[in-house]
Amino acid sequence: MRREPVAPNALSDSHTEVGLQRGDKMDLRCPKCNSTDLKKVSLAYQEGLSQTQGRTRLRAVAVGGGGPDLVMGRATTRGSQQSAFSKQLSPPVKWSYLKVIGWSVLVFLFAGWLVFYVNTVTTNATTVSSASLTFFALISGAIFALLLFLAWRHNHSIYQAQYAQWDKSFICARCGTVSQQVLH
Ligand SMILES: [Zn+2]
Repeated sequence: MRREPVAPNALSDSHTEVGLQRGDKMDLRCPKCNSTDLKKVSLAYQEGLSQTQGRTRLRAVAVGGGGPDLVMGRATTRGSQQSAFSKQLSPPVKWSYLKVIGWSVLVFLFAGWLVFYVNTVTTNATTVSSASLTFFALISGAIFALLLFLAWRHNHSIYQAQYAQWDKSFICARCGTVSQQVLH
């Protein structure tokens, strides 16, 4: 039961891996230093992530399991992790519709307060006329729709393009230059 799946799988895996690596190294070159030692950015990013997670675990053990210390350790590794891998390595992010809605509500409330305040100060009235209320509702509705449309467009075209580009990016192990490579 044990012998059957392990042996053939290991053999075929190493075989294809060697073949792929050879093919890649023939084609890929760093545009800056001409090194062939390039690594896929998505892989480097994944490795960096698991490395920092490993380091965090070690640090948590060293600290000895105190609640707040452990949280602090985690927070600092997460912070330094962000600067350690340059932003070039992290994948593009989708816009969150929830964030767009949340910010819109905040801006809406603030603008509403501003309209009410300006109206009270300039006309010395305690109520806002229905005409300016309608105008305000129309404008904020239009802006909200525009923001949602922008988020949708970002997630459906710009994000896809950015992700495809990120997926084609390679980082040079010698000088750290990130470049887009065309795989044949
Ligand atoms: Zn290089």
